Amino acid sequence: MAEKYSRQVLFNGIGKRGQELLRTRRIVVLGCGALGTVNAEVLVRAGVGSLLLVDRDFVEESNLQRQSLFSEEHARRGLPKAIAAQQVLSTLNSDVKVEGIVEDISFENIEQICGAADLFIDGTDNFETRFLLNDFAVKTAIPWIYGACVGSYGIAFAIRPAVTACLRCWLEDPPARGSLATCDTAGVIAPVVHAVAAFQSAAALKLLCQSECPTNVFQIDVWKDSVRMTPGQPYRPDCLCCVQRTFEFLEGKEKDRFVRLCGRNAVQIYPRRQQTLDFKELSRRLEKSGKVLYNDFMMKIDVNGYEIALFCNGRSIIRGTEDIAEARAVYSRYIGN
Ligand SMILES: [Zn+2]
Repeated sequence: MAEKYSRQVLFNGIGKRGQELLRTRRIVVLGCGALGTVNAEVLVRAGVGSLLLVDRDFVEESNLQRQSLFSEEHARRGLPKAIAAQQVLSTLNSDVKVEGIVEDISFENIEQICGAADLFIDGTDNFETRFLLNDFAVKTAIPWIYGACVGSYGIAFAIRPAVTACLRCWLEDPPARGSLATCDTAGVIAPVVHAVAAFQSAAALKLLCQSECPTNVFQIDVWKDSVRMTPGQPYRPDCLCCVQRTFEFLEGKEKDRFVRLCGRNAVQIYPRRQQTLDFKELSRRLEKSGKVLYNDFMMKIDVNGYEIALFCNGRSIIRGTEDIAEARAVYSRYIGN
């Protein structure tokens, strides 16, 4: 066994057998932001067989405080995150085949991109993609590791189809739009990212080497010094996804509709379900990020060169881009879902 892996081969949980298994495994990391970069680095250094990174975004200066693979040079050049990460990861361990794909994961391409994986790592920033991933993972019986952080709080757990509850056993539907803080409105600090990614990548190593992994839920607040490990959620007996095997997100039924408004440098978004937005609460959350104006009918936010107009039924227009992937990214950053 190569000297490179000698310390983890000495570790009982992995050993020579585990190391050999790692070399045969293919991992897909969805989202190459804070959690995605840290997880990818750990797994590439550990010597997995191949690692695919999928991300729709570009490196920006505001990422550097916590997205550990990226440099000021990447931000200056505005490189796609998947490509910048691929370049850095390829210099860390030449045993591992690393590939970056600049793509917005959707029900139309998830099968083609993620089909041949042994494990998925959740590095996404939105529930729409997580519910889609959950559908795909349950359908194909591939495990995935959920992870999320905002502020100084983070949560992570492993989802193993047919062994543990799935995401829809936890949350029947994605949370109401605009109801949760996002890193772009409430901020996030690097230590919580590393704590959550540590839990995720340890769970990944256990699954990859032993095909076993505890089913606990890890929660941490690095600012309040609180750590909790609680037993995983039981199955929801009528879970649409893992019990009834209806894959609404994978079939594209539960999908927002994005329409390019040609000549207006804008994209209109029709949410998958009509809903009533709480402008007062949303404006309180967004006022630190940009200029916010609202009345009974609509709300306008000027942020980072974009203007987001939100109507009370959830319809929205993002000005400042005609690129649908960019509009989706702006929407999930500031409004969330
Ligand atoms: Zn379920």
